[in-house]
Amino acid sequence: MGIVLHKSGCFKAAIEKLAAAGKRALFAMQYRCSELGLDDTHLRCSLFSSLVQPVLSYGCEVWCLERPSLFSQMNTVHNHFVNCTLHVRKSVPDGIVLCELGRVPSQLHWQKTVLKYVSRLSELPSDRLVKKAFTHASSVNTLWWQKQSLWLSQHGFEGVLAEGTFSLANAEQHLRDKCYHGICQSSATKVSFFMNNMSFDSNVMASYLRDIRPSASMFSLIKFRLGGHSLRVETDRWLRPKPPREQRVCRHCSMQAVEDEQHFLFDLPFLQHH
Ligand SMILES: [Zn+2]
Repeated sequence: MGIVLHKSGCFKAAIEKLAAAGKRALFAMQYRCSELGLDDTHLRCSLFSSLVQPVLSYGCEVWCLERPSLFSQMNTVHNHFVNCTLHVRKSVPDGIVLCELGRVPSQLHWQKTVLKYVSRLSELPSDRLVKKAFTHASSVNTLWWQKQSLWLSQHGFEGVLAEGTFSLANAEQHLRDKCYHGICQSSATKVSFFMNNMSFDSNVMASYLRDIRPSASMFSLIKFRLGGHSLRVETDRWLRPKPPREQRVCRHCSMQAVEDEQHFLFDLPFLQHH
């Protein structure tokens, strides 16, 4: 069936195999894009969703509610793709890279697939074999059903599914909002800088990524927006011991100011004419 089933009922081996297959699909896609000179950000994201995401998501209806620690290799594939697409290093927080691209973590895609699956099963006529198996799973409280129903009730979906008022679009927006709320709660400096200073819509790709053809200057702009630049406020964070922010002073002028985005854009004398 394409899913590795272990006698213990754990899906660790299945998830590892799918992650490895997803990685191969991603490399094949990137290789082909590079051969054909396809560098459009929007197109690359669409190709990932069509060619790689389905490989990673195969059978996610049965394994997606496993413990999150099992998904690290899966998440690495998507994170690697978004970082490569925007030419940013791994240290840039995943949350803001996803906001910039209007994308969501793979896990959210799997959860949406589960919801679609359960909703379709609930609506099937009771004489269908699949519906009978589904009803049986709930009546004998199988491990799959336990995880499923716990997750559904935690997100408030159990009631709407039972009432027949479930809407996949609303559920997806609910999951997106929850995910975005989680990113906003982060205490990471780069995340709060991005949230407070950049204009963006977490539901759609930033307009400049759609409108401008990828170029060195666009990648510089991305690095600047996402905190992946080489100003001292960022690069000195990697020194040990880490100097406090106020000591990361600008090397290009005598103002003794912190070399940060604000100083770079508005204060540096040699940029005032640009
Ligand atoms: Zn300066």
